[in-house]
This record gives sequence, structure tokens and C-alpha cells, in this order.
Amino acid sequence: MKDVEWWKKPVRVFQFNLEDPYGFFIKKFDAETLVNLARRMRANVLVVFARDAWGRRLYLKGKVAPHHPRLTEKSCVEKLVEEARKFGIKVVIMVAHTANKYMYEKHPDWAQVNAKGEIIVLEHIPSEFKIRSPQWPLLCINSPYIQYLEEEVSESIKATNPDGVLLDSFRYQPDFDKACYCDYCQIAFTKETGFELPEEENWETMEWREAWKWRYKVVVRAIARLRNVVKKHNPNLVYMYNNHPAGWAGRANKVVEDLRDLLDVVFAECSEADHQPPGFISEMVRLTKAMSGGKPVWASRNAFYMYRTVMSATPIIVKQGLREALIAGGSPWILFFSSTLTQDPRVLDAVAEVYKEIEEMEDYLIGLEEVKYVGIVASNATRDWYGKSNPAIYVDETRGFYYALVNQHIPVGFIADKDLDDVEKLSQYSTVILANTACISDKSIEALKKYVEEGGGIVATYQATTLDIDGVDREDFGISELLGAHYEGILNLPWSYVILKKNSFKKVHNIVPLGDIDYAFRNKRSEEGLANQVKAKVESEKVKIIGRMAFATADYGFEYTLGRSTPPIGIETMEPSIIVSDDKVFYFSFQLGRHFWRIGHPDYLNMIVESILYVAKNPPPIETNAPETVEVSLFKRDNELYFIHLLNHTYNQRILSIPIGACRQVLPRYSQPYAVHPPRRVDPISNIRIKLKLGKDWEEAKIVLPLRKAEKKVKIENNEISYTLPILNEYEAIAIEKTY
Ligand SMILES: [Zn+2]
Repeated sequence: MKDVEWWKKPVRVFQFNLEDPYGFFIKKFDAETLVNLARRMRANVLVVFARDAWGRRLYLKGKVAPHHPRLTEKSCVEKLVEEARKFGIKVVIMVAHTANKYMYEKHPDWAQVNAKGEIIVLEHIPSEFKIRSPQWPLLCINSPYIQYLEEEVSESIKATNPDGVLLDSFRYQPDFDKACYCDYCQIAFTKETGFELPEEENWETMEWREAWKWRYKVVVRAIARLRNVVKKHNPNLVYMYNNHPAGWAGRANKVVEDLRDLLDVVFAECSEADHQPPGFISEMVRLTKAMSGGKPVWASRNAFYMYRTVMSATPIIVKQGLREALIAGGSPWILFFSSTLTQDPRVLDAVAEVYKEIEEMEDYLIGLEEVKYVGIVASNATRDWYGKSNPAIYVDETRGFYYALVNQHIPVGFIADKDLDDVEKLSQYSTVILANTACISDKSIEALKKYVEEGGGIVATYQATTLDIDGVDREDFGISELLGAHYEGILNLPWSYVILKKNSFKKVHNIVPLGDIDYAFRNKRSEEGLANQVKAKVESEKVKIIGRMAFATADYGFEYTLGRSTPPIGIETMEPSIIVSDDKVFYFSFQLGRHFWRIGHPDYLNMIVESILYVAKNPPPIETNAPETVEVSLFKRDNELYFIHLLNHTYNQRILSIPIGACRQVLPRYSQPYAVHPPRRVDPISNIRIKLKLGKDWEEAKIVLPLRKAEKKVKIENNEISYTLPILNEYEAIAIEKTY
């Protein structure tokens, strides 16, 4: 275990962002101070800018970029690396951002420009404003800027001698408003594809489709090119990229999938965590793990709350956020801005508490693999070619499944398109979920057939497998044989229903409404497409129909103003809505995951859970009576060690609200809908029972609570072990070791 490279072990990261063009803070955070802060928090990796988004370098010996006007001997990155090394702290430099104000002013012709002629920017600008003198304009990686970046990367490595290089904000998007149409791009695109860059977003033209694919190629190529510069200096330098999994329309997840062999570590920026569900950071770690083919994933928690960089977040949300990264198999990363550290550094102790835990448990944590049980396909092809400019309609379907399973403590992970054609990888899962996985390759279909033949279960929804990997219509389900049914198109319905056969689900009411109101409320009353159902033609004896389609009485209900309510059930049909084929494949003709994600009703949750367990090859490896607010994850190392994380999200009530949308004759709001409160305290949970299935040859084991230095020996019977944790405060780890 000892010869594992440092970056493959769980690390404890401290990112310090000096976003400070005039240098208000630069003297305050000199090298010595930063290293002391890292030590105080027990961080072992420091991440800092070698060049900022304004275009200023933060190391002294250089000439490619101008140095920050207030840079000194004491605050330069050279000094920081020297100081950090004294204490075994690694330093990762952030460099080569596409945002660069200085170079934009020097070379406005290198800027990324969209089809409307607007400069593409990293920052958010109010929608009615014209973009003028941007702070963080993005420069184009098809322009000579890429050579500039190569020189910058090379020089910054030579000057600072870091342990790793992170491309933090390296952005070149395929989406229309953010897609570059500069002269360099126009020429390169035509030269490489023979087409001209399309003037409008039209998914049915060859130009648009080719341009979409080409833009990924451009960014992947540039990242590969900068990698060469890094590795030429020193092959041991760790090369990292920030995929910001829930930002940038999720597109950078595809960049990671394409680049998985060239990246050493992926940084999953989770800046959305404060307005996402508890467990969001775990979700992003698992998603990024899948995209990168299992590379180390380091995921961030901000030290501040929402956008209030001058105020520390609550200690509890910081601690639980850092632990979320850990319990999903990632490494935690705290992000501090200078203003937080200056004005309100209260969370330093909270970080230190968690980093100390991880340090103490390190020997257990190295080499752990999450136990696989349910795999949700997270398809970049579907997000792009099916979701197109509205990826949420697909992504929400996968997130609904994910959160239903996490809430019920059923081990769950994600599967990337690239791994879906690998039967060996699939066979590690008891159930594979095709949550409206519309796009799928022929090879993956063959792999799924094999997987089911070997006992695996599938749950599929809505338009799953109806398109090929490039989004071309199959005019049938790709897995029609497995489903015992054919695809006959979609019924576009503002609302609809499913009537369940008696006793088909244990915990679901027999009438299930589909659809929801449209919160934008502009020219329709119900959410576009949400209540649609696929017409599935059952043509096999092995298929059981357990739910049938019904229509609503009207286009909207009358029981609430403006037709915002659900219309009651009307005509019941014989059309199948839910089928089970050969007890191995469950199919829902509607968007089950999206309903659960959006509405959260237990009927949708129970349909998800019951269907998955019904078709699963094996029962879940772990069972517990913990409440939904406790996140449980299960890891193992060989057949020697099981490791369980329990993270308690039992918080004070969070305020969450959404606007109902404007209408005519509008009145002012009674209260604004922007309130988001953080967790302030955790309520402990007592007597959590855990039952775990073990490998065949376990006779005796040792149960260890590494953070309490407590252990006891137990005899194993029927390859199963039971344990009751007397009390769970914020977090607990349980190791179960084989003894002889
Ligand atoms: Zn360009």
C-alpha cells in the first residue's frame, strides 16, 4: 500500500483563489501564511493560480504574461512551493485559463465570439446588458492563443516547480450562445470538415451536427496538447482538468470521457452545492468517476455560503460537504477566497476536523473500491443528441433514479457510454438503469443482451434505446427483443395517467398521475413533454403488463386558479404503460425518474425501488434501518475489508421555494422566492442497524470504528454480519476486517 502515488491516495485539498486584480489581499496571503493555513487545516495539497483570469502571472521569474502588479518575493508561487515542500505539502498550479483579460486587450482578435458577434465571457452578465469591457473574456484555443498557453504552461512549470497542473477554467462550448465563430474557428472548421460554421442552431443540418462534434474535438485536442507540454517537463507531474460536472450544461463531462486516458485526476467543481440536495457532492463524484473511467476525483466545497464570499458557511455544511466527497470515493477540496479568509475564517476549524479524520483513516481508505449494485447509465450522447439545447429533460430522469436509490440506501453509481459495451463491466451490477437512455450504440445493445442472459436486470424508461449513438432514429427500441415490445412513437399529452394492476407494487397507489404545471406559465399550463407516454406494442408471451395508460378528462384541471391543477382521470385504455419481460426487464412508458426528481412523491420513489429490486440479479449487499436523511455507502478492498460510511444529513428544515411564474394582471409577490437556508445543526440518530453480505470464506471478522478507536471480534454465520451503531452524530466510519 505504501508505494501508491500520492495523488492516488485520498488527499485533502486547500484551494486558495486570489481573485484580486488590484491586490487588496496579496500581501496578507504570502507563501508562509498560506502554508501555515494549510497546516492548520491539515491539508496536504495546495491549489493556487500561477496566472489569474485577468492575465497576470503570480510567479516572479517569467516573461510570457505580465506579473501581478503587487507581486512580491514573499507572495510568489516560487516561494509557496518552496515553503510547502518543507512540510510535504504538494502544490498544484492553475494556469492556461481560457479567460484572460490582458491578452484580450492586447489581441482582441483572439477572443471567442459567438454567432451574434458578442464576445464570449466566463462571467455572468445581466441579460439586458450589452457585453462591454468584460472582466473575463474567453480567448479562442483555435487562435494563436494556444501557442501562448503552451509557453505559459512551460514557463510556469519551470519557474515554480509544482507537483501538478490544473486546467481550471478551460472552456470552449458547443452550445449556440457560447460557441465560437471567430475567423480562426471558421477557417479551421472548413479546412477540417469541408463545411462552413452554421449560422443558426439547427440539429437537422449536417453543418450543425458536424460543428457540435468538432467543438469537442477542438477542446480535447487542446487539452491533450497542453498535457504534452506538462509531461515533457516531468512525466510525474499530475495533470488535472476541472469538468465542473453540473455547470456548463454538463458538456465537460463528455470532455472527461473522451480524455480519460490522458488525465491523471479530475477536479469536480461543485459550486452549486448550496442550492442542490444534500448528497450533491457525492453525486458529482460518482458521475465524474464514471466519466473518467475510475480516475481520482477531487470535489470542492466552498468555504462560504451561496455567493457570499465574505461570510463563512456554517461549519456543519462545510464538514458534511467535505465528507460527501469522501463517502463517494473522492477526495475533499475546500475553496477559500481571500475575502473569506480575511473577514471570516471561522470554518478553518471545521475543515481541520474533517481533514484530521481522513488523515487518521488513510490506511483504510487507500485502494478502496465502491461496491457496485445498481448502475445508472449517464449518457453524454443522450444529453447532447436527445437533450440538445435542453439537456435537463434527460439529465433529470437520471437524477431522479439516483436520489431515489441513495435515499433508500441502495448502492448506486453511474455508467458512461464508453463502458456500456463492456459486458464484464456491466456484469458487476445487479441492475442497469436505462433512464430514458435514448442514444445507444449497436455494440452496447449486444452487451446488454449478454448481460441479461447472464442474469442481470434492466429497468428502462420512456424513449430508451430508440436512437443510435449519433441520435439517428431506430424507429423501434434497440432492445425490443429484451423488452418483448416494439416502439410505436409517442403520445403527446399535457397530462396523463397510469392505472396499476392490483398488487403489482406494494407501496404505490393504483392511480398514478403524470405531468406537472408549467412554472414559466407563458403560453401553456403544463410542463412540456412531462406527461407524454410511449406507445409500446407488446408482442411476446413472456411479457406481463402491470400498468395501463389512461387519459385525463381535460387538458387541465378546474380546481385551482388558471388551470394549474391536475385534471382528474378520464378514459382508461388497454395500452401498456408498465411491462415486465421475463422477470428480467422492467419498462416504464413514461419519465419515471423525472417525475420523482421534480415532484418527490413516494409513489414515484417506490416504483423506482421496487422495480429495481424485482429484476436485480442479487439482493442488495447492505441493508439498514437508517432514515432517508442518512447517506450510506459501501466500499471494499479485495476480499479482506469492507468499509461503510454513514453521513447524517438530518438537519433543520431548509427553506426552498420556487416562483409560480408570472401571469396577466400580475400582483406583487407577498414574499420573494430566493430564500435558501443552510443546514445549521445535525440531529443525531440512534441505533442504526446494518446488515452486510460478505464473501463466501469469511469465518471471523473484526468490526472497527476507526474514529473512535473501538473494535470488537465477531463470528460470521451465513456470510452475513449484523451490527448496530448506538449513535450517529455527524459522520461515522465502520471497517469490517477479515480475521483468521
Ligand atoms: Zn474561435
